[in-house]
Amino acid sequence: MSILVAGGAGYIGSHMVARLIERGQSVVVVDNLSTGHKGAIDAKAKFYEGDVRDREFLDGVFNAEPIEAVVHFAAFSVVPESMEKPLKYFDNNTGGMITLLEVMRDHNVQRIVFSSTAATYGIPTSIPIKETDPQLPINPYGESKLLMEKIMHWTDVAYGIKFVALRYFNVAGAKPDGSIGEDHGPETHLVPIILQVAQGKRDELSIFGDDYDTPDGTNVRDYVHVMDLADAHILALEYLAKGNDSQAFNLGSSTGFSNKQMLEAAREVTGKPIPAKLAPRRPGDPDSLVAASDKARNVLGWKPQFDDVHDIIKTAWKWHSTHPNGYGDRK
Ligand code: UDP
Repeated sequence: MSILVAGGAGYIGSHMVARLIERGQSVVVVDNLSTGHKGAIDAKAKFYEGDVRDREFLDGVFNAEPIEAVVHFAAFSVVPESMEKPLKYFDNNTGGMITLLEVMRDHNVQRIVFSSTAATYGIPTSIPIKETDPQLPINPYGESKLLMEKIMHWTDVAYGIKFVALRYFNVAGAKPDGSIGEDHGPETHLVPIILQVAQGKRDELSIFGDDYDTPDGTNVRDYVHVMDLADAHILALEYLAKGNDSQAFNLGSSTGFSNKQMLEAAREVTGKPIPAKLAPRRPGDPDSLVAASDKARNVLGWKPQFDDVHDIIKTAWKWHSTHPNGYGDRK
């Protein structure tokens, strides 16, 4: 039997594929390569290029392959873009989920692990954020993912399709051997942008605001290593395979780091000066986002290996410094 990884050519998906393959699992990847990279997919995985919104295409994959469970990463994830193009997000993310679940139902595939996000919480009511806290997204990206969680709830009720929704906080790092990593075009995330400055690909980092209600005035985020995230997905698949009920889990380190602290850590790791300047606030950034992640630790048995942001940045730096042009497939 195989695990279907939708979005397996993307940043997080490709690390999940690599982890599954390392464990001897047979893997089928579906990706339309709109933001992913063919070069990121482990050569031992079977790859079908196509779109999760394309029912006929997905039907063909489920007919051809013995799929036992699905891990779903195929979605757009840039918050500012979602503010400008909300329909693009509801179409691809939410619409894609509907088609995927229809095809799963038709082929009697009863388990799905889903990439959700801390963005489903909106402005936190308390820190650390618990899974039971209110989910009131403040951007279409978070709303599109919250809708996907809700749709899975109702397909569980109606068809018994069990799900685990993993609400990611800030994902960073790369496979420690440096073979795969983060390559977005354009890049919007803090860690890769800082490292692009270290590489000399950008002149300086713009720190978006230093008047937030945090110890040093810059936003505080909770960073989790992409391989630890992949491990949580493996545990979630095992959890569902044992017949457990649908659940949502936060995935974070439970420790917050400010943007200035991340910059300082990157200067230490890379030994580069990394110039930075203060820039205006970016719309939609909550002061702090830190996860309560004891539920994933207690229920799934998740034990993140990277608990120091320096180690996370070190693995990202290995990827960036050995792949200055990422996967080198940018058009
Ligand atoms: N950030 C920044 N400069 C940048 C990119 C990001 O100051 O060039 C800040 C951003 O405002 C936020 C933090 O870094 O406070 C993390 O942003 P990112 O986009 O990496 O992740 P998000 O928290 O939005 O998921």
